[in-house]
Amino acid sequence: MDMDRRQFFKACTGGLAGSSLALLGFSPEAVLAETRNFKLTHATETRNTCTYCSVGCGIIMYGLGDKAKNAASAIIHIEGDPDHPVNRGTLCPKGAALLDLVHSQSRLKYPQVREAGADTWTTISWDEALDRIARLMKDDRDRHFVARNGEGATVNRWLSTGMLAASASSNESGYLTHKVMRSLGMLIFDNQARV
Ligand code: SF4
Repeated sequence: MDMDRRQFFKACTGGLAGSSLALLGFSPEAVLAETRNFKLTHATETRNTCTYCSVGCGIIMYGLGDKAKNAASAIIHIEGDPDHPVNRGTLCPKGAALLDLVHSQSRLKYPQVREAGADTWTTISWDEALDRIARLMKDDRDRHFVARNGEGATVNRWLSTGMLAASASSNESGYLTHKVMRSLGMLIFDNQARV
């Protein structure tokens, strides 16, 4: 488009006036005045521990669905907990990718059992799993508990079953687990969180 010097200054002045008015809020387009919605604004915060390794970093999980009846809940964001004494808000790359684990199609959500000789796993209920574990532990302890050693000294040992506690245990649950297992006479006991 051809334009002389006078027309050029006229166009510039018009454009400047238009954009200034828009910045002052007189724009017919609301877009300039609109603030962006923060994606966590309506999320519920839940504190937890990273499930991956024995460092036990603290995390905050943000979930949609404020427990209203018609709201479908879903975890939409996970980040390090700045108040947690272990990691002070930081996460390693594995922890930073926790959201993928939460939504993974192959994540195991229920107890499963593979019977002796079977080549497939069967899903069972939590009640069944806990009853089964308790039954097997009791039977094994009854069979193998050693009250006294060869010299007649009281030892109260149960050496045929072991326990591995999870890395995400708190101090309190770790303490209680230790007490319960030792009170049964179990000596083979370890905790993943022992770094
Ligand atoms: S964030 Fe990384 S270092 Fe921390 S517990 Fe998870 S896997 Fe371990």
